[in-house]
Formats: sequence, structure tokens, C-alpha cells
Amino acid sequence: MSKSILHDKKEGTCYLCVLQNQDYALRTDLEEHHVMPGTANRRLSERYGLKVYLCRQHHREGPGAVHNNIQQQCFLQKKAQEAFETRHSHAEWMRIFGRDYTAF
Ligand SMILES: [Zn+2]
Ligand SMILES: [Zn+2]
Repeated sequence: MSKSILHDKKEGTCYLCVLQNQDYALRTDLEEHHVMPGTANRRLSERYGLKVYLCRQHHREGPGAVHNNIQQQCFLQKKAQEAFETRHSHAEWMRIFGRDYTAF
């Protein structure tokens, strides 16, 4: 299993609570979320560490949960692309994922 390039699980925080609410509370309900959707992309998310740890409200349960809210999904995809491109390149991102998420 690869390590996330976005978020360190050992921190114990929810990625979206921190970035959107400045809430650094330590969570016991963290769930792993692969940022890029679909079976093939889930595998690629794993390989490149494009995953984050989320509280249940931000993962599947709340109105702002990434699985219920397309804007949250886009927010994470943009963050994943930015993190990827600091380590690889924009050309490589486009070759692998075929879409520029920073344009939204
Ligand atoms: Zn959260
Ligand atoms: Zn998920």
C-alpha cells in the first residue's frame, strides 16, 4: 500500500475538516478515500498516493460528504492533481488521467 501524497494518516485529522473548517480535531472515525473515481482510477490513486482520510460526515454521510457532493469531489481532485504535479509533471498527469481538474 502506498502512502498518501496529500495527507498523513498518522496525523489523525480529517483532510476536509482541516482545509475547509480549520478543525484539527483528532478523529477516531477516519475512512480512507481514493480521490480519483472509477475502478481503474482507484488503482492509480493507490499507486500514486492520491488518497485522503476523512471523517464520516465528510466521506459518506453529510451533505458536504465527498460521495454526496460533486463540488467536494472536484475540490479533492484539484488538490490531488496539484500534489501530483509537484512530484511529476502536468504532461504526465494528462497522460495518465486525461483531464485537467485545476481548470474548474
Ligand atoms: Zn471532516
Ligand atoms: Zn470514498
